[in-house]
Amino acid sequence: MAHEVDGKKTDQNAPNMATKITHGGRRPEWTGAVVNPPVWRASTHLYENVAAQKSGVKSDSDTKFFYGRRGSPTQWALSDALTDMEAGAHGTLLFPSGVAAISCALMALLNPGDVLMMSDNAYDPSRAFANGTLKRMGIETRFYKPMDTQDVIAQMCGKTRVILLESPGSLTFEVQDVPAICAAAKERGIATILDNSWATSYFFPAIEKGVDISMLAGTKYIVGHSDVMMGSLTSTEKYWKKLRQTAREFGQIFSPDDAYLALRGLRTMAVRLDQHEKSALKIATWLEQQSRVIKVLHPALASCPGHEIWQRDFKGSSGLFSFILDGNEEQAEAFVDALSLFGIGYSWGGFESLALLTHPEKHRSATHWPKNGEAEQSGAVIRLHIGLEDIDDLIADLANAFKNMP
Ligand SMILES: *Cc1c(COP(=O)(O)O)cnc(C)c1O
Repeated sequence: MAHEVDGKKTDQNAPNMATKITHGGRRPEWTGAVVNPPVWRASTHLYENVAAQKSGVKSDSDTKFFYGRRGSPTQWALSDALTDMEAGAHGTLLFPSGVAAISCALMALLNPGDVLMMSDNAYDPSRAFANGTLKRMGIETRFYKPMDTQDVIAQMCGKTRVILLESPGSLTFEVQDVPAICAAAKERGIATILDNSWATSYFFPAIEKGVDISMLAGTKYIVGHSDVMMGSLTSTEKYWKKLRQTAREFGQIFSPDDAYLALRGLRTMAVRLDQHEKSALKIATWLEQQSRVIKVLHPALASCPGHEIWQRDFKGSSGLFSFILDGNEEQAEAFVDALSLFGIGYSWGGFESLALLTHPEKHRSATHWPKNGEAEQSGAVIRLHIGLEDIDDLIADLANAFKNMP
């Protein structure tokens, strides 16, 4: 009953989902007599004769041998499992990183002269791709205020071709009204891509909620062990061919060894996420009571903007959130340095806890995030990823850092 958060009851789909995570993509023709598909390391696929080779050229199937760039059973099994997890999905493309998945989706759907709308709290490299490559291609990006749904809808214009949503947003965790924005986009023929890395389809069934393309930084919770980079796009039928064609033209391939590790990570994702959820919630509520904490930005807590939307739409919350520390930059640095169980590092989603001093004001253009010291409620934004360590040990580590803070 790990999904019972904030009085919200477990969804009927939850047990179904854990089963899908465990069994998805396990076709006997790929696994043989063993449980996991072997690692098929291959560039050349050999044909029995010329006729077979000719029919291979004609076939456009994703699950037939052709050439290494189209993958092998190791990658197909992972794609299949991810598609299984998204009701309404047609297929899943794999990428060597989350960023590669985002840039491919945008390149597939945008043309010179088009307008892209992007959530102002989107992951910084997504912003960089829009302000760099897309701008160079003659594509304009308009950043929108994630919490003003009416304004987002009002901004959709004849030239808007794609909306890139991210909910909760990077660093500050605002939850936006994804179903309302996607419904309005659909009426206007605008494609929607959701960066669903924080929740995954385990906690947020993106396509069911109206999203066209659900993107995951698989590097985070799919892989789950901080040792592989991976990205994915899970799409409805409408955009599938376009995405697949672009990924092929860019020569995107996810290595079979990495696919093997990612698939192995995926099998335990449900239990890992349940534990990340439980531990993060306990620590977030504990942080709320600490005198040096101004605010906790965790979607399952009332203090987080969009909490009601999280409650309505999500089946749970993961291990990543931020809090605002009452302290200047030096004090915040000392706090993070004093932690011993929390590593200092980018990324998240692994089994280990991480802490990161962030500066959201550097990555905003449509909204204003006050710099530390600028406003009464401003402070240092520290992002935590709560790993699978013992919860009491993590709390003791945080308590010690507060105690020794200058
Ligand atoms: C990490 C991350 C990505 C990018 O994934 P990589 O595999 O690191 O390229 C995209 N979106 C969000 C929200 C992320 O946290």
